[in-house]
Amino acid sequence: MRPLIAGNWKMNTLREAAAGLAGALADRCREEGDPGVDLLVCPPSIMLHVVGAVIAETPVALGAQDCHPDDFGAHTGDVNAAMIADAGCSHVIVGHSERRTDHGETDQLVRTKAASAHDQSLTAIICVGETLEQLDAGETLAVVSRQIAGSVPDGAKASNTVIAYEPVWAIGTGRTPTIDQVGEVHDHMRKIVAGQIDDPESVRLLYGGSMNPGNAAELLSVENVNGGLIGGASLKAHDFWNICNSAP
Ligand code: PEP
Repeated sequence: MRPLIAGNWKMNTLREAAAGLAGALADRCREEGDPGVDLLVCPPSIMLHVVGAVIAETPVALGAQDCHPDDFGAHTGDVNAAMIADAGCSHVIVGHSERRTDHGETDQLVRTKAASAHDQSLTAIICVGETLEQLDAGETLAVVSRQIAGSVPDGAKASNTVIAYEPVWAIGTGRTPTIDQVGEVHDHMRKIVAGQIDDPESVRLLYGGSMNPGNAAELLSVENVNGGLIGGASLKAHDFWNICNSAP
């Protein structure tokens, strides 16, 4: 399966930096050709139009970091899936642990967000992963199972749904699980998506959490790891491109 390498820029970049980062990736695609992966950038929503204009006519796809689940209406400060699709996005991240923590997002809410993304023909990247306490308590597989069961909407398909395993304790910390731990979780996810997502063998399962050019080749070579969701290292075009080139 062709890997998906997705950059989550989080709440970073002003206009000039966003255009510069996107432009550097677009240049790499033009100069070096097909990186052999599907490449996605997810800037802050206010930067979607700026970045979209820079990557137009390149293989770099555009995604958002979150969406409100409802149609248009009285939700001050929010952006819905229709707006995201209208901005030229193909993907939207939902249920990132920072949103689950900062905004108290539940599996039920994440599920409605993913459903609204599907209604707008967007691919939902649904994030799951255990906290350090849950890791220490040996609850990783149970947490991931519960989050997937609760967050994946009915009717999800491999063509519109990606699951990203992001251990909360690995995000932005420089710590990563062992290759065996990643393999165990991803094998487990492959099994449990059967019954919940149509065509389960084709669902992309991403790993995310402190991936960088130094560890990407190893992490991306694990069976059932079909790409990466990258935070910090996606803010440097050179590092992000190197991660893309590390995919098997
Ligand atoms: C993320 O937030 O999705 C992420 C994986 O961050 P980082 O790569 O910085 O750990």
